[in-house]
Amino acid sequence: MSTHPPHPTESRLWIRNPLAAFTANALDASGGLVVSGGVITEVLAAGQLPSVPCQATFDAGSHVLLPGLINTHHHFYQTLTRAWGPVANAPLFPWLQNLYPVWARLKPRDLELATTVALAELLLSGCTTAADHHYLFPDGMEDAIDVEVRAVRELGMRATLTRGSMTLGEDDGGLPPQSTVQPPDVILADSERLIREYHERGDGAVIQIALAPCSPFSVTKEIMAESAVLAERHDVRLHTHLAETLDEEDFCREMFGLRTVEYLESVGWLGSRTWLGHGIHFSDAEIAALGAAGTAVAHCPTSNMRLASGIARVLELEDAGVPVGLGVDGSASNDASNMILEARQALYLQRLRYGAQVPVERALGWATRGSAAVLGRTDLGQLAPGMQADLALFKLDDLRFSGSHDPLAALLLCAADRADRVMVGGQWRVVDGQIPGLDVAGLIAKHSAAARKLLNG
Ligand SMILES: [Zn+2]
Repeated sequence: MSTHPPHPTESRLWIRNPLAAFTANALDASGGLVVSGGVITEVLAAGQLPSVPCQATFDAGSHVLLPGLINTHHHFYQTLTRAWGPVANAPLFPWLQNLYPVWARLKPRDLELATTVALAELLLSGCTTAADHHYLFPDGMEDAIDVEVRAVRELGMRATLTRGSMTLGEDDGGLPPQSTVQPPDVILADSERLIREYHERGDGAVIQIALAPCSPFSVTKEIMAESAVLAERHDVRLHTHLAETLDEEDFCREMFGLRTVEYLESVGWLGSRTWLGHGIHFSDAEIAALGAAGTAVAHCPTSNMRLASGIARVLELEDAGVPVGLGVDGSASNDASNMILEARQALYLQRLRYGAQVPVERALGWATRGSAAVLGRTDLGQLAPGMQADLALFKLDDLRFSGSHDPLAALLLCAADRADRVMVGGQWRVVDGQIPGLDVAGLIAKHSAAARKLLNG
């Protein structure tokens, strides 16, 4: 039995005898977990009882117990432009060029609805912590990250919200329209404001802020370098898209005379503070350099298949020392925000590259402790004493699971898509497959109307 001393006056909940539990290093959790003060205080082996009496018990005999899933790359606002016909069959660059003018019309109320939809979808799929990469700040959208903070708090999840940026418009050889780029001094001042107002440090942090110039083809080298300096000064993380497509690789060669990882190094980003969205097109030497630096990668399998961007070399990245987690990516290129299905996609895409021996547990590891490492969180992603009580519990009572044997394998192989219970910091945020207090039908009506309005100008 492993223990972490509980506070004597705090109430204790025993999540008893799960059907199966996903733990690191084969730690036996057959007896369940004790949760107190928002953290896991005990992990119990088969037949073991809590060391001190618990005031409440939850019988998990029909549940598969996972650490809360962690999403490391998203663009919440894109839930407003899902499955849009004109780009349904397009690769990245034309996909972006068609969508930018639509996204440029985004208003705060749209973002609020889009963020709530994305987060609710994630939560229902077993996700407890989500990263978002927001880089659109047209006039009137100066408070975009503030809007997101409120939505995260409302749903009781955790988030790493990245203050994104675009500075290289079409007039200067970039991809985005000029109206969507901002001056560097405005971006840097707002970044500092957001860190000061919202960034929490240490175990149990609910909101964290990171700095995230969008991609090599939409920002200048100056804003990359200045963001790195600012991140170092405030000890926050750095995020960007990198090595997503071969078009991007060509752009870097032509614009900067560099390959993508050389570009990353030239702006002071090749370090353990950085995580990269996608990270597909790396040479052997680049993988070794990323591993030596401890730079992390958010693997986004569905988006990579949807846009036919390529297959990330995930096993080689991990073997080189690169922390790898999963991201659903924005909802204009997935177009779902479902973390447990994303783990399935990762498993299958990586099997296509490396063979059928890639284990189910490895994919679950990317979605949990791998993603925690990507976001720099040492308090999340594992069922172990002292970790935050962020949990996802799945039932196997749907038709799709009937006849299945190994409960952990069944989650991915039979395509689980909805958690029955989700806990964040000791609080149940999903009960019986529903988010208490959230009017889903009302949300869909308002969000769909906002989506139609956005497209029609
Ligand atoms: Zn992205």
